[in-house]
Amino acid sequence: MVAGLIDSGGVKRGGADVVVIAIGDELLNGAVVDSNSAVIGAALRSAGYRVAQAFTLPDNSVHIAAVLRHLAGDSAVVIVSGGLGPTRDDVTARAVAAAFHLPLTLNETALAQIEDFFRRRGRDMPPGNEKQALIPHKGKVMDNPVGSAPGFIVDRHHTLFFFLPGVPEEMAAMLQRHVLPLVRQRLPAADVLCERSYQLLGIAEAQLERTLAADEAFADLEVSFRLQVPLVIVKLHAVSGDSSHLDRAERRLYQLFGAAVVARGDTSLVHSVAQLLRGADHTLAVAESCTGGLIAKLLTDVPGSSTFFCAGAVSYANEAKQYMLGVRAEVLEQHGAVSAECAHAMALGMRRNAGSDFALAVTGIAGPDGGSDAKPCGTVFIALAQASGVEVRRHHFSGSRERVRLSSAYTALNWLRVTLLQRAGQAEC
Ligand code: ATP
Ligand code: MG
Repeated sequence: MVAGLIDSGGVKRGGADVVVIAIGDELLNGAVVDSNSAVIGAALRSAGYRVAQAFTLPDNSVHIAAVLRHLAGDSAVVIVSGGLGPTRDDVTARAVAAAFHLPLTLNETALAQIEDFFRRRGRDMPPGNEKQALIPHKGKVMDNPVGSAPGFIVDRHHTLFFFLPGVPEEMAAMLQRHVLPLVRQRLPAADVLCERSYQLLGIAEAQLERTLAADEAFADLEVSFRLQVPLVIVKLHAVSGDSSHLDRAERRLYQLFGAAVVARGDTSLVHSVAQLLRGADHTLAVAESCTGGLIAKLLTDVPGSSTFFCAGAVSYANEAKQYMLGVRAEVLEQHGAVSAECAHAMALGMRRNAGSDFALAVTGIAGPDGGSDAKPCGTVFIALAQASGVEVRRHHFSGSRERVRLSSAYTALNWLRVTLLQRAGQAEC
């Protein structure tokens, strides 16, 4: 930690560090994984800051107070999540009061927000919730757009402390709405962010590393790789702070890997597909066997997906392929359910039944059992039906059942993405 500056009067005046604290016994005993600190770290990183330290503390006001006291004057910003709820184990406000000798007072703004939260849901405020309006004296209240617990800010010895609820969605909403704008004001000299990330599908990490290491477009950059099955995330960081290096490297990455670069930055493959379908006013239906509805799930995770997603069929049994999609018995008898012919018939039937512009169909052997010499585990047929006809591709994915299913779903969606891009006349793929 960068030590706080000591002014002539011997009082610490705050440093330049950002520190993150997660509070909760459940984080220490393994019942819950601390996702809040990761989300805060990533949001700060995107804003050009680095977290210097992160602490995980129990629901114990003495421990919490000790750490807060230690940080006051040493760090510029401290972001705390957890322990703001109405129950007895929520002790954060009490710990702040103890740490800085600030009495807890009933804050009218906070109380009005909590009452309003319940009123909007047609309920009276339950007894005990007014505890959430007990804020350390002079604490500034942050409204919570998602839940009942308001957060608060305390400025102590030039250290800005943010206290946010533990519920991940509430924490994330308040981080964006209140915390980041104030951090920018307090620490204006943030690094200019010279980092970009890309999601690649179907290229092994080792091959990516070899190719980029040998290419001079990446020579002045820090390049890192992370597997997020079925994707590899490639991060490029311009150490020099010069973003023109990144532009050049990005062009080269697309030249080298083309359609395998399924998304860039915070976007995702499925969001691109959704955007492209919406933009062209096209609709999609999916017929799934080995992916068991995963593609439909990914698509319907996108808010507003009803504008482009018509229907999904999980046609797992042979009979289901017949009665749901009209696959003929001869196709199944002659070629089997895992075949190009079956995938073709599934896509065709799905598009016809749903009346959609596009239909994707997937049939394969996710494993670990069920493979043969001719069709080993991981063999997957994907079909894409559109007005111009049906095309089928055969793939072989390796790894666990989960991995084969994810690879199948992402590969199907990426095929559609590339098809839609080509139709829209975009050059990059
Ligand atoms: P509540 O009003 O729900 O009590 P709170 O501010 O007191 O909110 P906690 O009691 O600490 O927050 O946690 C509420 C929920 O959020 C719990 O389910 C907890 O497991 C989860 N949670 C808390 N901190 C984290 C964290 N750092 N990462 C992920 N989940 C968390
Ligand atoms: Mg709680």
